[in-house]
Amino acid sequence: MREPPREVALLLNKNAFAVRPDDGDRIATLCTEAGLTVVDIVVPQSAEAMANAAARLAGEVEGLLVVGGDGALNSALAGCLGTETALGMLPRGTVNVWAREIGLPSQPERAIRALTAGTTRRVDVGRIEWPEADERSHFVLMAGLGFDGEVTRLVNRRLKRFVGFGAYVVASLAAYMRHEPYAARIEVDGAVHELELTQLVVANARRYGGNLPLAASADLADGLLDLWTLGPASKWQHAARFARIVASGSDPGDRLLPVRARSLRVSAVHEVAVQLDGDPAPPHPGPIVLSVLPGALRAWLPRR
Ligand SMILES: [Mg+2]
Repeated sequence: MREPPREVALLLNKNAFAVRPDDGDRIATLCTEAGLTVVDIVVPQSAEAMANAAARLAGEVEGLLVVGGDGALNSALAGCLGTETALGMLPRGTVNVWAREIGLPSQPERAIRALTAGTTRRVDVGRIEWPEADERSHFVLMAGLGFDGEVTRLVNRRLKRFVGFGAYVVASLAAYMRHEPYAARIEVDGAVHELELTQLVVANARRYGGNLPLAASADLADGLLDLWTLGPASKWQHAARFARIVASGSDPGDRLLPVRARSLRVSAVHEVAVQLDGDPAPPHPGPIVLSVLPGALRAWLPRR
C-alpha cells in the first residue's frame, strides 16, 4: 500500500461508450479541483497509440488515468508493467468490469474523489503468448478461450458505440448459433489434461462480463490465475445454464481443470478464439501459453 499519485497524465479513449468530445478538458478540470496536477492529456487515435502513449509516460509520471473502458485499460497495461507508475481509470466504457472489481464509482467527480483518497497496490497481471507466431499480450481481468472469444469477434464496434451492452447480446446469440466445442490438450503447471471445452476462462480478477463473480475466489495479488471451465453440452442445456448463471449471479463451472494455476499451455486442434479483458485478440496459429506475472502492475485503487 502506498499514497495515491498527486501528478497524473490523462489517456482518453475518444471511442469509449460514455466519452464526450469535451471530456479531456472537463476531466482535467475535475482532477485539478481535486488537488491533482495534470501534466499531460493524450487522446490516442487507436489501441496501439494508447499502448505507445502509456509506454512513453510510464516511469515519467506518478499516475496514469485511463478515461475509457476495460479495453483502453488493457491497451495501457503493457507499458506500465514493472514500473512504479500507478495505473488508474475513470470508467467510461460499456461494461467497466475493472471499476466494479475495485469498487470505483462510475460518476467522474465521485471516482476522482475516491481515487485521490485511495491508495496504490501491486497486483498480478496475466500474460498470454502464441510462441509459433511470436506474439504476446497481457490481461488484468481475464482471458477467455472459446465461446466468449467468438462473441467478442462478432461484436459490431459501431453498434457497441451506440447501444453499448446490447451489442454483446446480439453477438452472443450469433455465436451461440454457430459455436462448436474444441478438443484441447491442456498442460496446467506441467500436468496434462485432454478434454473438450466450450469455454475456458483464465481469471486474474473475480468479476466477469459485468458484476458476475465467475472466479468467485480469485485474488488479484496471490500470484495465481483462477480457471473456470465449461464442457460440451447441448444448445438447450447451455441456454438453461446461462439463464441460471444470470439468475443466481454465480456458477462454479464444470471444474474440468484445477481451480488455480501459475501457467498453462493450451494446444487445440483448431485455432481458438481469444478475448482479453473483453476485447478480441487477433487470431494466431499454434499453442497458447498463459502465465501470471506476480505483482507486475502498480494499480491505483479507490478508498473503499
Ligand atoms: Mg490470482
